[in-house]
Amino acid sequence: MVYLGKEIIFKQCNKCKIIKDINEFHRYKRGYGNTKPACKECENNTKVRRDTPLELVEINNVVIELKKCSSCSESKILEKFREGGRPGNKISVCLD
Ligand SMILES: [Zn+2]
Ligand SMILES: [Zn+2]
Repeated sequence: MVYLGKEIIFKQCNKCKIIKDINEFHRYKRGYGNTKPACKECENNTKVRRDTPLELVEINNVVIELKKCSSCSESKILEKFREGGRPGNKISVCLD
C-alpha cells in the first residue's frame, strides 16, 4: 500500500499480487481504501469463471437456455434451478 498523504495511490491486488495504480481497482465502499481487494482484471476473470455457461438449444424455433447441474451433470431448463442469493442468479444444483 502506497500512500500519498491520506490517499492510497498504489495497492497490491490480493489475487495476482501485482502492485497496481488505485485506478485499476473498482471502487468499493467497504473495501480497504474504498476499493475492492482484487484488481479489475482479476475481478473480470473470476466473474467469467464463476458463471456456469448456459447452453442454448433450439426446439421448434424457440431458443431455450439450459444450465448444467453441478450435482447430476444434466442440462436442464432454468426453471429447474432455485434462485440464488442475488436476483437473476440461479443456484447451480437443480431442484430434482
Ligand atoms: Zn489482480
Ligand atoms: Zn441435478
